[in-house]
Amino acid sequence: MRFEEFTTRFVQQTGKKEGAISPVMVNSASFGYGNSEMGEGIFDGSVKKPLYARVGNPTSAQLEQILASMDGGVGAVAASSGMGATAMATLSLLRAGDEIISVGGLFGGTYSYFSETLERFGIKTRFFDVDAFDAIDEAVNTATKIIFLESVGNPNMRLPDIKRIAGIADRHGVALIVDNTITPLSIAPLALGADIVVYSTTKIITGNASALGGAVVFRAIAEGDDKFKTPRYRDVHPFIQKMGSMALVANAKKRALRDFGMSANGFGSYLTMLGLETLPLRLDRIVSSVERVAGELDAKGFKVNHPSLAHHPHHERYRSQFANGCGTLLTLDFGSKEAAFEFLNRSKLVTITANIGDSRTLGLHMASTIYRDFDEPTREFLGITPGLVRISIGLESPEAILDDFVHAANFQK
Ligand SMILES: *Cc1c(COP(=O)(O)O)cnc(C)c1O
Repeated sequence: MRFEEFTTRFVQQTGKKEGAISPVMVNSASFGYGNSEMGEGIFDGSVKKPLYARVGNPTSAQLEQILASMDGGVGAVAASSGMGATAMATLSLLRAGDEIISVGGLFGGTYSYFSETLERFGIKTRFFDVDAFDAIDEAVNTATKIIFLESVGNPNMRLPDIKRIAGIADRHGVALIVDNTITPLSIAPLALGADIVVYSTTKIITGNASALGGAVVFRAIAEGDDKFKTPRYRDVHPFIQKMGSMALVANAKKRALRDFGMSANGFGSYLTMLGLETLPLRLDRIVSSVERVAGELDAKGFKVNHPSLAHHPHHERYRSQFANGCGTLLTLDFGSKEAAFEFLNRSKLVTITANIGDSRTLGLHMASTIYRDFDEPTREFLGITPGLVRISIGLESPEAILDDFVHAANFQK
């Protein structure tokens, strides 16, 4: 249903009915105000015109509108990268002494951002498995500002019960941020109770490695009671007074974008919109290919990790809560680093790279690359075994992918 709806909406929102059809690309770093009164109006917010590219760009603004509509948010802010988006969403809410509860996942960059970088600034993060509901509930205290959740464990492929974790966040009045990079359109975090969604648009949203980018989508502040109106979020209160329902967007722009500068650029946002037009088609095809490839490799004796397989611990959750699939990833375990390298080197189809969500099928040995600097207990928590290869299925024919994988793994027999 969602794929169908957005197949129409994205192309209609991106194109223009008159004049240039592809999005207008504005790449200027600064903008002339014409006269001083206009300059004053732009700075006090009464005139809606570009101020300076660090705090907003017209091409990125169009992308922001489309992403906000995709997730039913009140607004979005584009970022220079997915890590920029995560930094924006979190830094706009945090101060020294605060705590984060991180659930599931976790993307390597986010893990080191929480465990090393934010730690240096006096912010503590505790990490939990997706099913540790009681422990998550008990871990919330007065210092907790954020529960952070990844929609799909990358690369452990564990699936969270987003609604249930949103329930815990709501009960304690704590903000839930969902990294939905792997499942745009497939999962609608705001509808499931999240407050903020972050994306790396570098991945499936753009889909062809042409642009690094990210985005944060915010829900509206409610008219009556709202968790952001409680003393826990007192730093947000001035923005609620001034901006009402748009407060989280304004807060992120002033408290993160303006001062840290993780801003998107016009050219990157342009390329991202071109990718977005075809996101529903690409994702729909890849999700069906992933299930097919996972099923057939599993039947052939490969050690496959994907929740579409009946023996996966979250198979039931996959069926009931991930009706549109869980993105482009599956993992294969070859038992040792040597066997994993052999498979990847013998494959003619896999592009070996750290990216995911591309038109091409991508693969990477986890322990020797993204997770090389992590100690053994951390790797174990994140599901990184010595022979683990992460695969991101692309647009190729699933038969071609299967043939290639079977051939590449032939040395094992
Ligand atoms: C890639 C990725 C990020 C970081 O995005 P960049 O655009 O590389 O900065 C964050 N979260 C997830 C789940 C990712 O896959």
